[in-house]
Amino acid sequence: MASGDTELDDFQRKVKTFFHQTLPEALDQQSPSASTLERAKNWRQLLFDHGLAGLDYPVDCGGLGLSPAFNAVYQEQSRGLVPREEAVFGISVGMALPTIRDHGSDELKQRFIKPGLRGDEIWCQMYSEPGAGSDLASLGTKAVLDGDEWIISGQKVWTSGAQHSDFAILLARTDTSLPKHRGITMFVLPMHQDGVDVRPLVQMTGVSEFNEIFLDEARIPRSWVVGEVNGGWATAVALLAHERRQTGVASMSGDESQLSKAGRSPIPVAQLIDVARTRDRITDATVRQELARLHAGERIVAWLGHRDVSPSIGKLWRTRQGRAAANVAGQLAFPASPAWRSDLGDPANQLDDYLAYHILNCRGMSLGGGTDEIQRNTLGERVLGLPREPGPDRSTPFNQLPTN
Ligand SMILES: Cc1cc2nc3c(=O)[nH]c(=O)nc-3n(C[C@H](O)[C@H](O)[C@H](O)COP(=O)(O)OP(=O)(O)OC[C@H]3O[C@@H](n4cnc5c(N)ncnc54)[C@H](O)[C@@H]3O)c2cc1C
Repeated sequence: MASGDTELDDFQRKVKTFFHQTLPEALDQQSPSASTLERAKNWRQLLFDHGLAGLDYPVDCGGLGLSPAFNAVYQEQSRGLVPREEAVFGISVGMALPTIRDHGSDELKQRFIKPGLRGDEIWCQMYSEPGAGSDLASLGTKAVLDGDEWIISGQKVWTSGAQHSDFAILLARTDTSLPKHRGITMFVLPMHQDGVDVRPLVQMTGVSEFNEIFLDEARIPRSWVVGEVNGGWATAVALLAHERRQTGVASMSGDESQLSKAGRSPIPVAQLIDVARTRDRITDATVRQELARLHAGERIVAWLGHRDVSPSIGKLWRTRQGRAAANVAGQLAFPASPAWRSDLGDPANQLDDYLAYHILNCRGMSLGGGTDEIQRNTLGERVLGLPREPGPDRSTPFNQLPTN
């Protein structure tokens, strides 16, 4: 056997032991009163300390420097076993850190990658604004250089997890005389400072997952730019590719034994099968057919993770899977789901509460990370080579664009 295969076999055993022995033991010892955030941080620290975080990150900034084959083994062995609290780090580990790894300066890599992988620091993504969602390049938050600092003013919205984040990947406009895609810069913004006002928004699920943020002369060290000044569009698109991969393929591997409201994954089919059994619907032909479709969908999303396809395909599959799972959940939870209220608080209702949460939550999956329509535009333009959407504002300086 080649030495590479032996290493992969050893690694496979290590991942198996971690998920089937180390992690369950650690979870058993965890205080039942630990908050979601504490559980999340404990999990991430355990993963890091057992040499399983940052597989494909360079060794000199806290990673393990392993090839993609090791990542594939990890994905396969951890499927269905990762605690759902990992969602707390979806933006850190899935988006911000890989962007810093690929485009950040040595200073940023040394400062941020290791604590991020270990879960000591949590990140959010400050892209969207009230007037800039799908048309992200219209963003108006300003960054002005003042000596050794950038001064940031503006408003962001839909910022997931900002209420417990330490740092943000921020897009801001640094030159209004350039066309809208060319005067944007990506920064690392420290969240704990005057000038960053985070206000939670309550969603229809009853959970406050995202926020609006008012930036009033917030400060960033001059060197905390990711990529080039005014070259932020390229790094923004690179992060979006990570986001689509993350919210598509990677989101399907959560612990199937948990009834958690963390994260934006579809309800796992294994859970729905259990519910169908306990509610005596497992022989219902319609339910069976839907469950079979869902099972096939889960496998397809997993296989897409092994292929070098556009991340938009995985994301579209995932959102479709989320809606299909919510549809089955609606049948299984009827009539409790339409009568659901988030404040019922009775442990006997926990399952219906969980199902109803996902029935409502799945709609947001089609928006966050770029809407389904935008994924289709991306596939049409970048993969199929169809003509671009007409964009008369692409060459006009930002400060000459009409405003309303
Ligand atoms: C759960 C959730 C979490 C989020 N988390 C974050 C976050 O952490 N950070 C962050 O920055 N943002 C976040 N967002 C914001 C998200 O990125 C935006 O909602 C999304 O990009 C759409 O922007 P919008 O809401 O302004 O809708 P709009 O852009 O106004 O779109 C409205 C509708 O028009 C359609 N549309 C718009 N333009 C086109 C076009 N060119 N072609 C075809 N159809 C089009 C859209 O598909 C959509 O159906 C989150 C959103 C959700 C729902």
